[in-house]
Amino acid sequence: MSNSEALPRAMWRGFIGRCPACGEGRLFRKFLKVTDQCTACGEALHHQRADDFPAYLVIVLAGHVIVPMVLAVETAYAPPYWFHMLLWLPLTLGMTLGLLQPTKGSIVGLQWELGMHGFQAARQARLQGAEAADGVAVTASSA
Ligand SMILES: [Zn+2]
Repeated sequence: MSNSEALPRAMWRGFIGRCPACGEGRLFRKFLKVTDQCTACGEALHHQRADDFPAYLVIVLAGHVIVPMVLAVETAYAPPYWFHMLLWLPLTLGMTLGLLQPTKGSIVGLQWELGMHGFQAARQARLQGAEAADGVAVTASSA
């Protein structure tokens, strides 16, 4: 597995709420609480430090989608304000709450793959394992 594939794979696994290491175990034990350890492969996941970053990303994403739509509707139809409240508040809440867990999962996957915070030891072990596997492959093909 090349490095260019590993990062999107780890982030995708996090996005769908799975362990970035194996893709099988659940990443979250509550809505935004990351499990301490993967139940499938035992990978330690408590090192994650996503903090407020997922929320910042969700605000930027939702803002760039909702605000232009609000302005377009206001410009085109000029509906009463109660209509705006009825339309945009539920849409904004749904979008932000819907994106928050997948975004946090992606950030945890990113941190895991890049060996950030406490994930350095796991990354080091993965890289050494990959080098050892490459060594075996080279020896086998040259024989
Ligand atoms: Zn796992």
